[in-house]
Amino acid sequence: MTKALSELTSMRVGGAPAEIFEAVTRDDLIEHALEVWRSGDDWLLLGGGTNMVVADDVSQLRVIKVATRGIEVQPPKNGKVLVRVQAGENWDDFVAHTVEQRLAGIEAMAGIPGTVGAGPVQNIGAYGQELSDVLVRVEFLDFATHEVAVLDAKDLAFGYRDSAIKRGRPGVITWVELELQDLDGLSRPLYSTQIAADLGVGMGDQVELAEVRNSVLKLRAQKGMVLDAADPDSVSCGSFFTNPIVSDRFARTLPSEAPRWENEDDDGLTVKLSAAWLIENAGIGKGFSLAGSKAAVSNKHALALTNRGGASAAEIVELARFIQERVANKFGITLVPEPNLIGF
Ligand SMILES: Cc1cc2nc3c(=O)[nH]c(=O)nc-3n(C[C@H](O)[C@H](O)[C@H](O)COP(=O)(O)OP(=O)(O)OC[C@H]3O[C@@H](n4cnc5c(N)ncnc54)[C@H](O)[C@@H]3O)c2cc1C
Repeated sequence: MTKALSELTSMRVGGAPAEIFEAVTRDDLIEHALEVWRSGDDWLLLGGGTNMVVADDVSQLRVIKVATRGIEVQPPKNGKVLVRVQAGENWDDFVAHTVEQRLAGIEAMAGIPGTVGAGPVQNIGAYGQELSDVLVRVEFLDFATHEVAVLDAKDLAFGYRDSAIKRGRPGVITWVELELQDLDGLSRPLYSTQIAADLGVGMGDQVELAEVRNSVLKLRAQKGMVLDAADPDSVSCGSFFTNPIVSDRFARTLPSEAPRWENEDDDGLTVKLSAAWLIENAGIGKGFSLAGSKAAVSNKHALALTNRGGASAAEIVELARFIQERVANKFGITLVPEPNLIGF
């Protein structure tokens, strides 16, 4: 009997699959993925399991767990440093490593759980930084062709919490290459009002990378957004819904106090709304749960759904659907789940 996926995912739901194969080298990863694909069986690539809700019955699924390791740092060129990281490295440990090496570019993404290889899938981001800001290329085993190719950032067509892979180009990222900067241990001019306010500095100031990282870890912990065995609010997938992007015209039909951010890429034709605000203002507060359910909205953040202990995957999805309906009825917006729903 294999382990249940509830033991390998941060939401702690999911049944036992047919098989879990742990790939510790790039070659094993490629070879095993090809073998599974040729068999025609259902498959799942698993990193840290922090961005998925796995169904209670996945007994037919063959799971490939990415556990490859390795970080190679190239010598600096004109203050730029290329770093190649194997997919199974832990993202947060990798961020800590780059901060220790005094390399700028991903310090504000400290505390995002999961693996490096999953990062490009939804173009992870937080506190004013996104992976696409620094990603140069990835190695990709393409499900459609069964070929290994090196894809440049532009091939991945990144968007907000989105990429070509997420939109339906399945495959395996084996390594990721980033371009970081040597700014004498300092960050780029500060890009996040929340970090600036926390550190008591101005936007645009440059501060020690370690200070940025510590500030982010503190801010995230206050919202239950770092994995912490002692914090029941972190038994989650992080944000359960993406912030909706709507036309400026539609946004003007919403209450004026609804937070919104202009999209600079299209001169404000579209705006991003706060999913957390929409949820709370549709009458679903922090800590909310359906009667008799062990799934609940986090006590710290309206955007995170949590497993209060022993919840089934069905209970998590039932709560998510309830929230979607409430928000749609009140504001005419269908919230889109951020995590991958596996086996539903
Ligand atoms: C408490 C908490 C806070 C979070 N905060 C943030 C945040 O601030 N910003 C943010 O962007 N995300 C956040 N997340 C979501 C999550 O951490 C990221 O999406 C992370 O990149 C997922 O990594 P993982 O290894 O756990 O992926 P998994 O959950 O294992 O997989 C996610 C998806 O990627 C695929 N995948 C995994 N590895 C690979 C690979 N090597 N090649 C191709 N596909 C692959 C999987 O098949 C699956 O479809 C948070 C999650 C939690 C639990």
